[in-house]
Order: sequence, then C-alpha cells, then structure tokens
Amino acid sequence: MLKTESNADLTHFNTFAFPCDAKVLYSIDSDEDLPLLRQELRNAPCLILGGGSNFLLPEKLDCAVAHINIKGKKLVNENDRRCLLEVAAGENWHEFVQWTVSQGLWGIENLALIPGSVGAAPVQNIGAYGVELSNVIDWVEFYHLKTGEFIRLTPGECQFSYRQSIFKTELKDAAVITRVGLRLTRTPNPQLDYGPLQSFQHSDNLTPAFIAAKVAEIRQSKLPDPGVLGNAGSFFKNPIISDEHYRVIKQAFPDVIAYPQQKQWKLAAGWLIEKVNFKGLRKGAVGVHQHQALVLVHFGGGKSEQLLALAKEIQQTVQSTFGVLLEKEVRTYPFCG
Ligand SMILES: Cc1cc2nc3c(=O)[nH]c(=O)nc-3n(C[C@H](O)[C@H](O)[C@H](O)COP(=O)(O)OP(=O)(O)OC[C@H]3O[C@@H](n4cnc5c(N)ncnc54)[C@H](O)[C@@H]3O)c2cc1C
Repeated sequence: MLKTESNADLTHFNTFAFPCDAKVLYSIDSDEDLPLLRQELRNAPCLILGGGSNFLLPEKLDCAVAHINIKGKKLVNENDRRCLLEVAAGENWHEFVQWTVSQGLWGIENLALIPGSVGAAPVQNIGAYGVELSNVIDWVEFYHLKTGEFIRLTPGECQFSYRQSIFKTELKDAAVITRVGLRLTRTPNPQLDYGPLQSFQHSDNLTPAFIAAKVAEIRQSKLPDPGVLGNAGSFFKNPIISDEHYRVIKQAFPDVIAYPQQKQWKLAAGWLIEKVNFKGLRKGAVGVHQHQALVLVHFGGGKSEQLLALAKEIQQTVQSTFGVLLEKEVRTYPFCG
C-alpha cells in the first residue's frame, strides 16, 4: 500500500528549511509503489522530491509530492578495467560516495559531501572540483509516469551538459529515477586540476578516500552547513557568454573571473554578485552568505517569497551592470501544471 499523508509539512524536506504545506505527500519505498502512484495521480502533476537540497518551496503547494525512498546498492560486475555499480535513487549521495571510496574505487571522490539523493544526481548532472557525474554514468533507469514503463537511458540519451540533462527538459516531472548504473575503477585516477586540490598533485600513495576527505574538508571550510544555516548551495549557475561579450566586460572590469569554454567564456557568478555589492547583504530573514556570494541563505523565521525577491533583485542588478542573465540553479516555484 502506498504511504500517503495529506497536508504534509515539508519544512524538514528542504535544506532552506522554509515552511511548506503540501496538499499530499506520497512515500515511494519500492518500484512496486510507482504504478500505484500513477493510478492515484491520474495524470495530475506531481513534484518528485529527493533530499530537497536544490529546491525553493512555496508556503503552499497545491500539487502532489512523491518522496523517493527506494534503497539498495550493489557491485554488478568487475573486470580489470572497471567496476559496474548499481545504486537506488533513495540512497544518500554522500554516504554512497563514502561506501565507494572505502572499497578503493575511483571516480566520484571529488563529488563527496554534495547533499541530496542518488536519484537527483543525474537530474542536474552534479559536479564539483573538476568532475561531473556524467563522467562515470553507465545508465539511468526511470519509471515513466505518463506511460507506466520502466526505461533505461544511456549517458548519450540523458543529454548531459553543465548542470543539465533530459530530466530537466522533456522528461521534467514525468520520469521518476529509480536506479543509476556507474562505472568506477580500481586503477588510480586522481582528478586534481581544480584550485585547492592542485597541492596534492605530487603526493604519493593517493587514495580515493584521502581525496574525498580533502574535498569534504575544503567544502566545510567554504560552504555553510544547511543543518545550521538554511541554503541550497549555489543559487545561480555560472553564466556562459560569447567571446565578444567577455571582451566588453573585461575592458570595463579587468579583474573579472572567467574560464574559457571552447569559443565562449564561463563567468564566475559569485564574482558578479560580489561586484554589485550583494555579498554578505542581509534583508530580514534572508541574505547572501558572507563568504560565498553564490549562496543565498535563510536565517530562520522567514518565507521563501522573501528569498525569491532577493534573488530577483540580484538578477536585475547583475543584468543592468554586466548585461548578463543569471539563471537559477535552484528549482523555484511555480511548479505544478
Ligand atoms: C550546501 C550545498 C552544497 C551543494 N553543492 C553542490 C555542488 O557542489 N554541485 C552540485 O551539482 N550541486 C550542489 N548542490 C545542489 C544539490 O545538492 C544537488 O542538486 C543534489 O543533487 C540535489 O539532490 P536532492 O536529492 O536534494 O534533490 P531535490 O532538491 O529533492 O530535487 C532536485 C531536482 O531533482 C528532481 N528529483 C529528485 N529526485 C528525483 C528522482 N528520483 N527522479 C527524478 N527527479 C528527481 C526534483 O524534482 C528536482 O527537480 C548543493 C546543495 C547544498 C545545499
């Protein structure tokens, strides 16, 4: 039987810790729950929820919410080049990373301490410290809420790019990811090109567990812990602009932080926000983190609409100063219908 709760309080289901009253909350604990969910919904919209670490939820949510809790992980097969792992959507991402590094497996150690569930990881192709999930994905399995089928996609079919996948476009809110297949390896393959990790490039006897621990240390020193201060990590994506546009900005602001991307440039969104003096700014119960301008925070006792208003103000100021649109990385409402 499908576990159902009416008028559910989602305050503890989002890392901003904003109060949210959802019309109905379904707990999806196994594959068998999914056809039952489909029957209940009868094509009505449904928000798929993992750990709620990439959401800004409204005070009142008029559609159904399905919280994905399917558990399990296993080593499917192994040869001298790679290990194929299968992991269920409801597993905690960081705990899964810890499990892989404890077995000496390389591939996702740079993605340690990213909050949230395994099932959400392919949705925005999580990335950190020079590694993206798409580097190690073998397949993604999902249940199609419209057709009632279980389907497996290859990495190519997932259409991964920077913080993007098919699950944010044509399969948005229609695909419940149930399981992910990953290709990891026991052959040492440290990825240490990213700033603070470069200091380990000449170290001997590196292990994936050592790198995961260093990544966790760096993250803890830079990012606010959502358990202490409500936040959803980077609120905006780093914008990608043309070479021509970059030259105009560079002339006016020689200290601009940007990285070449084929014939374009990826700008550091945090630098843009800092430059227009929003870093550390507090507006009542919400604000911009004092050390990390890309992270918007909830100090407690506020409403998500206050944070949304602050985000809009930042977008408008950055747009009028640099001619750059900051796209949100965090998913904000309205969601349903
Ligand atoms: C402090 C902090 C640091 C962060 N750092 C990073 C970082 O370095 N890199 C990075 O990429 N992200 C980062 N994030 C963002 C976030 O952790 C990731 O996007 C994470 O994958 C979200 O997981 P979740 O389970 O909380 O997803 P949720 O917030 O619950 O959902 C996110 C999206 O995925 C969808 N979804 C969730 N589960 C499923 C499923 N099973 N099937 C289909 N769709 C689903 C939801 O509908 C929604 O659209 C950070 C967040 C915080 C709070």
